[in-house]
Amino acid sequence: MDSRPVLDVVIVGGGPIGLACGLEAKKAGLNYLIIEKGTLVNSIYNYPVNMGFFSTSERLEIGGIPFVSTHAKPGRNEALEYYRRVAIAGGIQVRLFERVITTKKEDDHYIITTSKGSYAARNIIIATGFYDIPYLLNVKGEELPKVKHYYDDPHYYAFQKVVVVGAANSAVDAALETWRKGAEVTMVVKGEEISNRVKYWVKPDIENRIKEGSIQAYFSSAITEIRENEVDIQTPAGPVTIANDWVLAMTGYQPDLSFLEKLGIELSDDEVRKPAYNEDTHETNVAGIYLAGVICGGMNTHRLFIENSREHAEKIIANIVKQ
Ligand code: FAD
Repeated sequence: MDSRPVLDVVIVGGGPIGLACGLEAKKAGLNYLIIEKGTLVNSIYNYPVNMGFFSTSERLEIGGIPFVSTHAKPGRNEALEYYRRVAIAGGIQVRLFERVITTKKEDDHYIITTSKGSYAARNIIIATGFYDIPYLLNVKGEELPKVKHYYDDPHYYAFQKVVVVGAANSAVDAALETWRKGAEVTMVVKGEEISNRVKYWVKPDIENRIKEGSIQAYFSSAITEIRENEVDIQTPAGPVTIANDWVLAMTGYQPDLSFLEKLGIELSDDEVRKPAYNEDTHETNVAGIYLAGVICGGMNTHRLFIENSREHAEKIIANIVKQ
């Protein structure tokens, strides 16, 4: 017979929303465990080092614990400090660098198999975010080490020839930051203009740098091949080849929906592939399995973020407690 203790809930993912669920579970007196495949708040840890949130700090708070920041909108480092302090102060039960691989129903509970072992729990909350699978360019040369799908620190690119692919917030931040540290920057943009989703206080900056020619931009264009010292770009005026040291492919990220499918969670047939769950309780079509945070939006990763999904924790835990 299986002698493992059966937890009330296992939370998959130690991002801000997974932590919020842990705090709420603790408040309700539940026996819970968070399992995180990387470091604590792994996605935020992997954001660019100078990244600034568009949300003000009080909107990033979880568990009602104040987030004090020097400016209204905090940066990545302050957010790391905040969520780590919250986890320590809250005595959060978390296992780090342990990936949840699959789950299986057994009697009245689930067996959760991880990269390091297995656990038993009556309920599972999936809060796995969307930052682990980059959209690929799917061009020859993308596998070269000079191609980065995650951008971190601008200093590294000083005096280098950098191509930035994309025109949304991550691409614009990377282009401006690396240019300001002395890189020669070329943007390759699929659409006709800089995205309207770019932070309103940053958009004029990039548009003016392009207009004055400080940053070169090819709109309605796409990279067709990447080589060690060059890239080929298809532009409306025909093919262009430019000298190049680094390619920052800031083309966005997608959630691991195959993980949900493996657990039997249904996804909508359309392009959003929205997981099936009850909006009031966040319980999916698989009884006892809940979704929290940005993963609830399926491929629509811009609908939910920290400030409007931290409330999921209360809804889910209230429903678990009721059972
Ligand atoms: P995540 O923070 O992505 O956490 C998911 C966690 O699950 C990760 O730590 C991951 O490692 C872990 N995980 C995944 N799969 C497994 C597995 N199988 N086993 C174990 N662990 C697993 N939102 C705002 O509200 N305001 C902002 O200003 C803001 N700015 C942003 C700026 C940038 C550059 C980006 C990229 C995002 C920004 N967001 C902002 C969005 C916000 O960061 C995300 O919505 C938020 O991280 C979602 O939290 P989450 O806990 O749902 O997911």
